[in-house]
Amino acid sequence: MPKKFVISSGHGAKVPGASGILNEHEEAKKVVNRVFSILTNNYNGSGYKYHEKTATSQDQNLANIVNHHNSKSRSLDISVHFNSASASATGSECLYYDEKSLSKKMSKAMADALGILDRGAKERKELYFLRKTVKPAILLEVCFVTSEKDAKAYRENFEGLCQAIAKVIADKLDYKKKESKPKKSEYYTEGNGLYRIKKKCWAYSKLKFDKKNRVEVCPENTVYTIVDIVKYGLVYRLKTKSGLYITAKKAFVEKV
Ligand SMILES: [Zn+2]
Repeated sequence: MPKKFVISSGHGAKVPGASGILNEHEEAKKVVNRVFSILTNNYNGSGYKYHEKTATSQDQNLANIVNHHNSKSRSLDISVHFNSASASATGSECLYYDEKSLSKKMSKAMADALGILDRGAKERKELYFLRKTVKPAILLEVCFVTSEKDAKAYRENFEGLCQAIAKVIADKLDYKKKESKPKKSEYYTEGNGLYRIKKKCWAYSKLKFDKKNRVEVCPENTVYTIVDIVKYGLVYRLKTKSGLYITAKKAFVEKV
């Protein structure tokens, strides 16, 4: 039997979490939805997601969340939160009851994806969610809703963050990534000349689109002179006159 997970957003529709530059509960829902979708579509994972909607008190909210987790057959419980403190506080952290090594990996994965401080794993045995869920549990504090820097990093790297969180969970539960073959027709495969950016993306110094290879943002409607189209694995990259690489995916670029 494949292992399952339950992932939920911290706080609820009527019991707000922290609020600053970001609204904790709203963003936690987005992260939960995207991570769930990655684990069940891009990986062979299976599980449940939950957003608490009815409670009007914090105690009831916590009880509803934990009851939902405990009602499912699963191997791992994940709660997604955002931190809140002074404007200068920054970083990702992951709280645990006894999953120290998983929490360490999770905290680092989030911090790396966002390019912010890794605050690390923190034992918090007194927290209701960690104490009352009967399976191994971790509580993510993605970044600080009170920090301009964290909010910006989060907005710019949302997809990378969710992929990173999903990967740590997938590794823990032995999920494998599904082979996804992009359709050739989704990419420009030949034709030098001018290309317009349809959807904001990044230009990279290398064919590998790693965060560390990012050089500049390509704003919508910018036009680039493309001197080559390079096949990279199953996908294609546009090479610009200045030697940078941009995706050749038609959802992002358009030949003009
Ligand atoms: Zn919270």
